[in-house]
Amino acid sequence: MIEDVTHTDVNPLASPKGTHKPCIRCGERSRFMCKKCRAVFYCSKAHRDEDLRVLHSDVCDLYAFLKDSIRFVPGQDERDRLEKQRVIKKTEILKTAKSLAQKSLFQNHPDDAINQLSVAIHFAHELYGNNSVLIIPIHAMCVEALVKRGRMDQATQQLSKAEWILLNEDDCPDLIKADFYKNEGFLNMCKKEYKSALTSYANETFFSTAAFHPV
Ligand SMILES: [Zn+2]
Ligand SMILES: [Zn+2]
Repeated sequence: MIEDVTHTDVNPLASPKGTHKPCIRCGERSRFMCKKCRAVFYCSKAHRDEDLRVLHSDVCDLYAFLKDSIRFVPGQDERDRLEKQRVIKKTEILKTAKSLAQKSLFQNHPDDAINQLSVAIHFAHELYGNNSVLIIPIHAMCVEALVKRGRMDQATQQLSKAEWILLNEDDCPDLIKADFYKNEGFLNMCKKEYKSALTSYANETFFSTAAFHPV
């Protein structure tokens, strides 16, 4: 799919208080936007092209819907219907970003996965709140991608975020716990902390067994 994306200075009047939309990739001040959906902004052609390649061309139409649907609609029923549609589109962006990230990890393209996962985390927070157990698998995928890039400090941070949710949520499914411990084990192995890794993998085995053979 060829997108109509051209060099566009973002009009400061388009956003309140003269603020600028940040680049979706790096958070820097943007100088470009996707002209098709007009909802996603970039600091540079490099970041625009990269985002189009790894994710945006698959979700541009969904962003366009989200952008267009922010308008006043008379009638509570119609507003509820529109809000339901918005949730469906956000869920589709989340699912697409997550499954593309899975593919990137499988193909050993951790940089692409990191970019796809940052979008997945953004929409997971919007849809489920900041402390939902459903965000744990996305943080776990981030751990894998960051470890593969040798960014151990950031991987540890992602694992801590997942762990914080895990410890504060009583009702976490065993499969999600198993996924967490698998990635904790992977991180510990790469940090050469073999004793901790053994504990992680033991926990992984315990929770995957519990998931498939509930008592
Ligand atoms: Zn950027
Ligand atoms: Zn777009």
